[in-house]
Amino acid sequence: MIGKKDGMPVWDRAINTTKKAITSTIKARGSSINDTIIFIPLVLENTQYVNAFILAKLNDSIQLNLYRSSDYVNHEFGTLQDTSNSAEKFALQFMLLDFETFGYSNFKVIDNRLFSNGNSSSIKQKKVHIDHNNSITNARGSIKILDYEVCTTTKTLNCSSNAACCASEGVEPGTCSACEGVCWSSNTICIKQTILVIVDDWGGGGIIPTTTGGGGGGGGSSTEPQQPCNPTPSLDNGLVPCLTGKEKGWIAEPIEIFPKNPCTVIDSLLKKSFFTPLYKSMRDSVTRNYEMGMFFKNPFEGRIDFGITRGPQDSLSIEYTIPAVTVDGFVHNHYNHPNRYSVFSGSDLYTLYHYFKSGKISDTKIFTFGLVTDSTSYILMINDTTAFRRFGEKYLEENPDLFDGLILTYDITSSKPAVENEIQFLKILKQFTNQSVSIFKGNSDFTEFKRIEYSYDSNTIKHFPCN
Ligand SMILES: [Zn+2]
Repeated sequence: MIGKKDGMPVWDRAINTTKKAITSTIKARGSSINDTIIFIPLVLENTQYVNAFILAKLNDSIQLNLYRSSDYVNHEFGTLQDTSNSAEKFALQFMLLDFETFGYSNFKVIDNRLFSNGNSSSIKQKKVHIDHNNSITNARGSIKILDYEVCTTTKTLNCSSNAACCASEGVEPGTCSACEGVCWSSNTICIKQTILVIVDDWGGGGIIPTTTGGGGGGGGSSTEPQQPCNPTPSLDNGLVPCLTGKEKGWIAEPIEIFPKNPCTVIDSLLKKSFFTPLYKSMRDSVTRNYEMGMFFKNPFEGRIDFGITRGPQDSLSIEYTIPAVTVDGFVHNHYNHPNRYSVFSGSDLYTLYHYFKSGKISDTKIFTFGLVTDSTSYILMINDTTAFRRFGEKYLEENPDLFDGLILTYDITSSKPAVENEIQFLKILKQFTNQSVSIFKGNSDFTEFKRIEYSYDSNTIKHFPCN
């Protein structure tokens, strides 16, 4: 039943959700106090979303139900607010599992029948945003519940009423196809959802709305407006047919890397008197014939501890002994050997992963992993430990040559200009690390580091200043 067709179970996530109380021992409608409800997300190979899930209900016996994401079409389209079932609740359950499993919080609704709130044809774009509030213990006793805020943003073509908008485009109101894209008004409705558990087959309190809140609107332009669709393609109404049940009616938007925290850390480090000189000393040492490295600990406390390490002469490696204590930062250099890389090597990445896996990083949120060469300087920071572990297991641990293979495949060489290697290295990070690391680039005197990221859209490197 499970496997290629519906996806492989993500067991660690099933357990995680236990901790997060989606899986709970609770008294819900249709179940006794001793029921344990477990969600087991199923993920297809090479994909990053929940394709199906198994709902296991355990009491005296075990009851298993399989839910596929494409099955939302079998439910009535309606709203989230009432207590009956709807395709929206079904879709939202999958979005929540995607949120819990992969961290997605923004979803683009591509089946226009979903979340229409009775307002169909004029809606051009819909998004669902899931926001996590802390789990709370409430009057239901010791039952833990999760509160989510689900915001649906709809963009509506507003040409007939918004004369000023159309006029600015030189188009008569009511004939404003030419001003589509500027005549949108948007409206956001947020609903607080309290997640308990799905009981039986959508008959119970899977997603129980508690409070509804209004939302403000506002005009604005939009790109890629989404077309309404025709749910009855045999009766042509000029619209494209709606999706059938073979596909999902929504897609998760890529997770935005939140540079705020790593940036704050790097800004704080730059304000410490040791940091810039430490990186300078690494640059000064590139004329030697061995690699240098330096650990540090407690950078934000009065007394900072340092540990120095160096590689063998004429070798492009460094003694990466695991430090005896946990550390808060490591920086090393690639000296002026003709074969040295201007970016991190595969074994550098392996080292970072190895520190992480052996528990030698005191706090991943502040750990900085630095590289200095004669012309470049970079800092890597882990911004998602779960995703970084997945990346490490796949590309660094199972086959230690895999990442070095990527470096070769992406044609990073010691003879290439640093700017060319840089863009290739950023492509690798973007493509293979599950967005689990952020990379920062230093200026020539190490007084500033900016986050950089490869952009597929422009095929360029984007710079994100920290402030
Ligand atoms: Zn290195």
